[in-house]
Amino acid sequence: MINKQMKKRPLLRLYMILLHLILVICILFIYMQNKQIEVLEQENQNYQNFIDILQEKTNELMHETQILKDNQSFGHVQSDNTNLLSALSTMTNMNTFYPDFVPLQSEYAISQDYLPQHQSIDLSASRGTKVFAAGAGIVVACYEDKNLGNVLLIDHLNAYKTLYAHLDQFRVSINTFLEKGQEIGTVGNTGNSTNPHLHFQIYLENDPIDPNTMMTISKFKN
Ligand SMILES: [Zn+2]
Repeated sequence: MINKQMKKRPLLRLYMILLHLILVICILFIYMQNKQIEVLEQENQNYQNFIDILQEKTNELMHETQILKDNQSFGHVQSDNTNLLSALSTMTNMNTFYPDFVPLQSEYAISQDYLPQHQSIDLSASRGTKVFAAGAGIVVACYEDKNLGNVLLIDHLNAYKTLYAHLDQFRVSINTFLEKGQEIGTVGNTGNSTNPHLHFQIYLENDPIDPNTMMTISKFKN
């Protein structure tokens, strides 16, 4: 009946087609709008997550700041580095950093005195003799040198540094905090050396000085 009518009225047919087209376009438009909304919602969720992370970080920082504020007084500092703490606790006694402790405490003999051409003291001793730090400080260099053999350098955190060469073995490593008289290594014959001995040097503002001005090193010790 309708078909018959439509055949009779082509204009109505055209209207129907147009109506269908408009309907399809409307559905497509709504579908696209919904997609757009989904994308925006996802973006919104991402921003929300980002804000949450920032909020969490802010809380962490505020917590750390509070801990730092609480620990401002020295006594509250917590550290597993007992070596460092004990060194810091003795800092009030600055003498402990002054390098005046003779690095060999058992049998030795001076084999080479301090001279302008040899700005150190050589202490001849048997291989394996313990070597001690002349003062408290920090190990700033610990390496093998072609001439000096196994070398260890201590910064005493004042104007002084001490150097120990031809070591057989190291007992400490770089960045170790040392107390005065702490064992740092053993006498050896490493590098350009013909007999086991300790090549001991003291620097004041990076210039070598005679160790005898800092400590009394006897010619022999039994
Ligand atoms: Zn020497």
